[in-house]
Amino acid sequence: MKTLSIVLPAYNEEQNIPNTSKVLAEFLDKHGIDYELVFISDGSKDNTYAEIQKAAAANPRIKGAQFSRNFGKEAGIFAGLELTTGDAVVVMDCDLQHPPEAIPLMWEKWKNGAEVVEGIKSDRGKESLGYKLSAGLFYKIMSKLIKIDMNASSDFKLLDRKVVNVLLELPERNTFFRALTFWAGFRTEVVEYEVQERQFGNSKWSLWSLMKYAITNATSFSTLPLQLVTVMGVVSILGSVILAVQTLVRYLMGNSVEGFTTVILIVLIIGGFIMLSLGIIGHYIARIYEEVKGRPKYIISQVTDGVNGNVTGRWK
Ligand code: UDP
Ligand code: MG
Repeated sequence: MKTLSIVLPAYNEEQNIPNTSKVLAEFLDKHGIDYELVFISDGSKDNTYAEIQKAAAANPRIKGAQFSRNFGKEAGIFAGLELTTGDAVVVMDCDLQHPPEAIPLMWEKWKNGAEVVEGIKSDRGKESLGYKLSAGLFYKIMSKLIKIDMNASSDFKLLDRKVVNVLLELPERNTFFRALTFWAGFRTEVVEYEVQERQFGNSKWSLWSLMKYAITNATSFSTLPLQLVTVMGVVSILGSVILAVQTLVRYLMGNSVEGFTTVILIVLIIGGFIMLSLGIIGHYIARIYEEVKGRPKYIISQVTDGVNGNVTGRWK
């Protein structure tokens, strides 16, 4: 019999763990799907890990791990993938904003040969206007940069074991799970779902963390910003040729430009271009620096009893 693993990253979700594990277990039993639930507590400061342990003790199909500190949702997803043993893996949020009802649909598509089933949001759920606008802008830019339409995509998806292995073998540290499945290819189908209300607690994203996430993802997936530096260089060279000709002609005609206004403006514009370019290049150097250090994506400090000890060597 085929098994389905479900990866659930959780950061300070003590109220959601008991509820979500119960809802999912009952739901999957009802649909006759053989499952395992893998909760990854992303360095939670509340009782999330204790709740995971409790759930694991009560149901042998539940297991989990605790990170030594908060490493972010991406790391949580990858650690979860690493601990799964099922033939197919679903990644979903543990606040039940991703409706379990979509899982049997994904499962059916997988049984019929799909290797990746993308969960596509049919609407974005209840979000504040500011969040909607900034998320909309982020996805517009990202879609342009990586040439994949990202707007309705999410981290809610089903992956075949083959695809999971491909993702786990990627050597990079700065991953962007949502786009990587598009990058990997494979036979892809989609399931639409409606984003639900969060069950308990609040969203874990601050504006700052979203901005950092956006910039990191954009630069880890595209070198277009670097080419922007070249474009700025070309623009300044063209501008300088025109100005040089104009200045020389005026000088030869005996009425050279008066005052500092032009000089100040040019210095400011060129200075701005140079600073911006340095910033962009610096950002890529930072990414390279992080990758070269080769530090692990996450550190696991505890695992529940069900987790096989020999995974240790593979914890990246
Ligand atoms: N999450 C995580 N680490 C973090 C932030 C969030 O594992 O640093 C988890 C969180 O527990 C939840 C999922 O990622 O299961 C989505 O987070 P959240 O619901 O806060 O985001 P939103 O649904 O508002 O986009
Ligand atoms: Mg949520």
